[in-house]
This record gives sequence, structure tokens and C-alpha cells, in this order.
Amino acid sequence: MDSNVPGLSHVILQKLNMKTYEDYKSAMDGRKSGSDFGIRTYFDMFQKMEDTFKFCAECKKLPDALPDPKSLRRCKRCQNVYYCSVACQRANWPLHKKFCKKLKLVALDRLVEWLVFTGDIPFPTETWTKPAQDVKTWEDWFAMQGQLEEKLGAILAGRYMTLLWANAGKPRPEDGELRESIRRLVTDFHSRPLTIGLGLRLFGINPLAKTLTVHVVGASHVETLNTRLTDYDELTRMFPGHRGMELVMVGVDVVNGPIMRPPLATLAPQGRVHLSSYKGLYHDFWESHVETKLATRPDLVVGFHPGFHACPDLLAGWLPTLLLLRDYRLPVLFTVYSEQELKSSLQILVELEMHIMGYATNPFASLRPEQVYSSPNKAPVYCSSYYIALLGLAASAVPGAEELEEDDGWQGGEPSAAGVAGGNTPGLG
Ligand SMILES: [Zn+2]
Ligand SMILES: [Zn+2]
Repeated sequence: MDSNVPGLSHVILQKLNMKTYEDYKSAMDGRKSGSDFGIRTYFDMFQKMEDTFKFCAECKKLPDALPDPKSLRRCKRCQNVYYCSVACQRANWPLHKKFCKKLKLVALDRLVEWLVFTGDIPFPTETWTKPAQDVKTWEDWFAMQGQLEEKLGAILAGRYMTLLWANAGKPRPEDGELRESIRRLVTDFHSRPLTIGLGLRLFGINPLAKTLTVHVVGASHVETLNTRLTDYDELTRMFPGHRGMELVMVGVDVVNGPIMRPPLATLAPQGRVHLSSYKGLYHDFWESHVETKLATRPDLVVGFHPGFHACPDLLAGWLPTLLLLRDYRLPVLFTVYSEQELKSSLQILVELEMHIMGYATNPFASLRPEQVYSSPNKAPVYCSSYYIALLGLAASAVPGAEELEEDDGWQGGEPSAAGVAGGNTPGLG
């Protein structure tokens, strides 16, 4: 199963022989020579980033396995996949033609993503002019951004966009295509805060009524690499006048950076989103920090692509956390990449007798297509495509338990254990 789609940021660093975003930043700022990492120029950097994708999409040969590594040629249409020979390209076309168009966007977005590192993306956003429940789609969100075209235009005309295409080894696409790419990357950036906001609404948690704590469980490099203290400020624009929110990233793969600071033992500051993190397993964090009141008990727990469905080892790692979340009746929102992941995750949660309040397509899923790393000729996936909302034990597991009241804005379906176990497609909202 394609359970693990690496965040490109991680791929970039790996290819660049860098361990942390700090290394990258030092090289780019010229504080530490890029040549320390084998990079002499921006051109080198983009070449190294592209190297990850250089293998024959048909026979899977890597450049090193070819008599002439340079004979690997790129598909002209998508500029994404490579072939070792005309014969391989021809053999691959019947399959590749189904994905070529989408893979073109994938290839474009992974270059333009560099502008997230330089800070050009996202553009400065504005306080929401509509209440959160009236913003149902990304189109609604973009419609609230004043001077959107000017802001996109400024990114297009920026120094880094010019640098990018001077060094990418690919022709600069038309402005219209670049604008679309920037928009997709902006949704990718804000998908996580908006999904947290959606979780608050689904559970009827009002940020204007009390100071909130949100735990991001199973956080990894995807959520924490290059994360700045302001990266979740969209929540402040979403809920203007809120009473303060703390987001604690908890996970064994949390990356060192500005947000690596202990969680607050006191309330988060009024009207601000405060980020902190803990490197370790959630149930250990619970014992050492929540039980001892070093950290506040969460109002909501969110897991982006927890991946516990992927293999027994991962499930074993997640089990103590899943049971803790269930037994403390914490409101939980998980996201997954695909319908297939949704089905297998639901099956596990049903087996654990967790009360599934609902699940649905996420209106704030990232719109940026990402290719399944090892096999380009597959439908791309989108971060946080679906969500699952959980709260405590399933009613069937608690004799005489009252049915929980559902929120007005509820849009999820109620899966039956039999339906999911039988492999039927869940009714998605
Ligand atoms: Zn080949
Ligand atoms: Zn192609």
C-alpha cells in the first residue's frame, strides 16, 4: 500500500545532504558555504532535487545502471518521468498517458515549493470577513483575500521566482500556470491550520469562549521541518478575537527548530497561536507532561496521516496512543491521503471500538498533487484528503451509553462495522 508519501521538504534535505532546515538556511544565507554540502550553485541544488526522480519509469533502472547515465530522457509533456530508451518510453505510454497531464503539475509544484522555503509563499493573508462556518471551500477562502492577483503577481515577479527558472533546467512556464501552482502551494501550506479549525467546528469547540490547547499527535518532519512560529496564524484570522490557542506538536520525528520549546503550563496568550513541541511518543508525553500538569489537557487532538493502517509495526506503535485517546474521551481528528487509507483506517478504529463520529472528504485538503514516490504512474495523492472524527468508546461497547449529540455542521457518514469490514466503499459526504 502506498502509505508513505514523503513530504518533499524532507526529500530536498536528504538530497542536499543536509540534516536540518538550519543547515539549509545557513547555506542559502551564505553563513555556511553551500559547498560544505556539495552544492556550489542554485543550479546544483535544483539538479540534486531532481536526481531523486531520475529513474526509468518503465524498467526502473537508475542512471548508474546505464552505460551512459546521461541517456536517461525526460517525457517532454510532463517533464516529470524519465526513460532509459525509446523502447521503454513506448512500452510505458499506454499507462503513462493516463497520468502525464497531472504529473506535469506535480513536477511544477515541486519546483515552486522552493518558494515556501524562501518565504515568498504563502502571501500575507487577511482576517476572515465571513464566519468560519460560511467558508466551505478553498474558493471561498481565496475570495476573502484582498488584492489576490496583486499578491500572486508579486510572487511571480519576485527575485526567487526568477532565480528558480534561471536554474531549474526547465523552461519557465507561462504566468497563468505559475499562478495556479502558487495557489495550490498556498492551499498546501494552510491546509493544516484550516483542518484544525474544521476539527474545532466539528466538535463544537468555540475558540472565542475559552483558551484552547490542540495536540498534534504523531507529528514528524512533515509538520515540523522549517516550521516557523507564525505558521498556524491562519487560525487567528479564522477566529478573530479568539482567547488564545496552543498547538503542541508531539512525535518521535519532531524536527529541531524554532517551535522546539516546552509546552505551556499556563494558558496561551489571548488572540495568539502559540506553537511548542515534544519529541517522543504521545502516551509518554501524556504521562510526563499532561498527568503532571506540565502541559494542559487538550481540547482537540489532531493527527495528520497517522499511518497506523500501513503495517502491524506502525499499528503496534500507535496502539497505546489510540487507546489513551479513546479512554480519555478526547475529541480526535485524523486525516488520510486516500479513500483506500480511509477504509483501512476506519476498519482498525472500529475494531478498537472507538466511537467514529463521522468521516468525509476534507474541504481543506491540500490541492497540491503529490506523486507516490516510488511509482509515478499512479493517481497523485493530496494531503489530508479525508478526515475521521472520533470521540471515546463506541456506544455498542458501553452498555446503556447515551448517543452523543451531533453538531449542526456535521457532514460525515456513520460507518457500520459490518460495512467497513466487508470492504464496501463508505458513503462519503
Ligand atoms: Zn528503461
Ligand atoms: Zn509525461
